[in-house]
Order: sequence, then C-alpha cells, then structure tokens
Amino acid sequence: MSTRETADSPSTPATAGFLEDFAAMSTFGATSGGGIDRQAATPDDRAVRAWFTGQVTRRGGRVQFDEIGNQFGLFERTSGAPYVLVGSHMDSQPLAGRFDGSYGVLAGLHAVSALVDEPHPSRSGDVNLAVVNWFNEEGSRFSPSMMGSSVYTGSLELAEALASTDHAGVTVADALAEADWAPVVTPPEIAAYAEIHVEQGRVLEDTGTTVGLVSATWGARKFRVTVHGEQGHTGSTLMSDRRDALFGASLVIAAVRRMTDEVPAGSLQASVSQMVVEPNSPVTIAREVTMNLDLRSPDTDVLEWAETRVAEAIAAAEDEAHVRVDQQLTHQWALNPYPAEGVALAGEVAHDLGFSHREIYTVAGHDSTNMKEKVPTVMLFVPSVEGISHNEAELTRDDDMLAGVEVLTEVVRRLAESVHSGGN
Ligand SMILES: [Zn+2]
Repeated sequence: MSTRETADSPSTPATAGFLEDFAAMSTFGATSGGGIDRQAATPDDRAVRAWFTGQVTRRGGRVQFDEIGNQFGLFERTSGAPYVLVGSHMDSQPLAGRFDGSYGVLAGLHAVSALVDEPHPSRSGDVNLAVVNWFNEEGSRFSPSMMGSSVYTGSLELAEALASTDHAGVTVADALAEADWAPVVTPPEIAAYAEIHVEQGRVLEDTGTTVGLVSATWGARKFRVTVHGEQGHTGSTLMSDRRDALFGASLVIAAVRRMTDEVPAGSLQASVSQMVVEPNSPVTIAREVTMNLDLRSPDTDVLEWAETRVAEAIAAAEDEAHVRVDQQLTHQWALNPYPAEGVALAGEVAHDLGFSHREIYTVAGHDSTNMKEKVPTVMLFVPSVEGISHNEAELTRDDDMLAGVEVLTEVVRRLAESVHSGGN
C-alpha cells in the first residue's frame, strides 16, 4: 500500500491514464501466468517498441534509435539544448513479471509528457526532456546484461556488444538488422538521468515504505566455472573409473548454496543459475559442465570470504569427483554508491509530496548504475509485493505505481531546473 504522511494529494497530470497504458503495454508478450516474455529484439520486444514509438509520437515527441538499439523518445523544446533523460528497459527475462523495467519506461514517458506541457519557458525551459528504453538490460538472450546503457556510456565496446550471440548463434548485429530500427549515429547529449524501478526485494514492503531512494549498488563477483570430466557409458563404466563432470558440478552448486548459511542472513547472495551439460545424453556420463556463479554482497570482506570458500569447494569437488575445474572471473564491481546529491533531491521530493521514503541499496544492477558514472543521476524504487521478481507473479500495486509516477515527475522537474541553473 502507498502511504502518505499528509492528507492532501495534489493529482498530477502524469498519472492520468497511466494504469490504462500500463495494461495495454502488458499485452505484448503476455504469458498465461500473468507475466510477460519479451527477450531483447524478439518479435514481442519489437512489437512493444513499435507501440512505444506510437505513444511517444502521439504525445508530440519523436523516436530515435542508436547503434545498439536504445530507443529514445525525444521531446525537444529548445533546439540544441541538452536533455534530461528518464527511463528503464522494456525487455524481460523468460517468463518474467510485467513490472521489471517496463514500469520505469512508461513512468518516464508520463513524467516527460506531463512536464513538456508546462508553460514555456518555465524553470526547466532551457533543457529538453527525453525518455529511453534501453536495449537488452536483462542479458538473458544476449550477454552481458545492461548492454544498451553500457555501450551508451562507453563501458562496453559497440563492436563487442554487436558480436554477442544468443543460444541459436544469432548475433546482436543480426537481431538489430532484422528489427530495422534505423539507427542514428549520434545519440542525444544527456545532462542528467532519472530511473524508477520496482524494488525486486521486500525492504519497502516490510517497512511500510512507498518510495526507495537508492543510495548504492551491492558489490558482485561473477564467474564462469567449467568442470572437465570424461565421457563414458552410464551403465558399464565402473564407479571407481568415473570422472563425472555433472557430479563435480553438483558438489560446487551445493557448497555455494550452503556457504550462505555461514554468514549473517542478508549479507550474501550466492547462486549457480545457468548450466550447459555436454553431451547431455541420458546414457552418457557428462564430460563437461559449464555454469555461471554469482556472488553478491554489500560487504567487500564477505565477498572476499565467499570467493575463498568457492575455491575450497572447487578443490573438494575436484578431489571427490576426480574432475578438473576452471574458474574464470567474468564481471565484478565493488559496493558502488549513487550520487549523494541525487539521493537528497529524491528525498526532498518524496517528503514534499508526502510519501514515506527511506534510503535503500539495490542488489540488482540497473541502467542507472552505468548512467550515474556519467551524469547527475537519481534512482527510485517502489515496493514489490513479497519481493517476487523475474517471475510471472511479480506485482507492484496500482497506488504504489501511481505514487512512483508522481515522485518521478517532480524529480525530473527539479533535475531539469538544476541543469538550467547550472547547479550540476
Ligand atoms: Zn529491470
């Protein structure tokens, strides 16, 4: 439930029609379980993007795509002025919820289109406003995640991103060519960024808070782990002769899960979530297993400890299963703060509008994690019921969504004002 600290709730135009638009957006890639399945550049992702283009142009904006498929809805009021950008992503995991990312893009559109109708030149008159739908934030079809914003901010080479392939061997370049999003070479110049997202955790719900002011991203270390065994007949190979890669992998998986019981609850998230088994045949002992291993914590010491424990688990698995295990670090970041000015600005807005609020860490990465390295950035959360995410049952209540749209709109207004006044 959304909670207000004051009685008056001035309705803003940004919330008008929001729930109807959200319902319409959620029909693209809709699943029977009430979620969506819109992986990057698939037909359903392309369809929802075409719908979004229509929503932008209907409100007087124009749409541009950059070379990595980021979709910008530009509302230009002052030619050549920089943009305040707001948005998130409309791609999803397989069989996912309809709120993750998509809520933030639509909230951004409503915020921008409400502000662009304000008397001109108002306080934000010298900046332009834009909404963005970043490409392939989820990383489920193409690796890495947060691809569009990583290329936009320069932390990932365009060529490297375009060469990434899905499980069928289709490259990002092929998928973008098929989507035919007619890229422009030069994306808009951005002066500030705001994003709102569902929490995907249960802190806000458990504390009865409506608005999360994201102040940092948890640290993370991600590894590719390859277990090398030897292929053999599941019936005839003597147990003493076996070098079963799948057995070795299972020992690592169980150890990774169990080590989270050795630290205080909530201080370490550890997962093996994806696995490729070779040859994956019913009567053949696995010769090789490749899996990804994902460690997250707000505490660098806990991450260090976890990495040591993983190494011990791997050594034990090699010994017990007679396999060899390679471990390669693929991605890591330390606890990563958001700009304090943005946290303060968002807190003032939530206070002024009368919504309960608190600072919060994000465990998941977001496109704002990239943007905050480049421009003044604000990241907001609204509650997720029971913290369910990457699941069709993901839910954020209507009044929380509307509260978020109100807060986001005012955040964008004040961000625009601060750019105009040269405050940033
Ligand atoms: Zn997301």
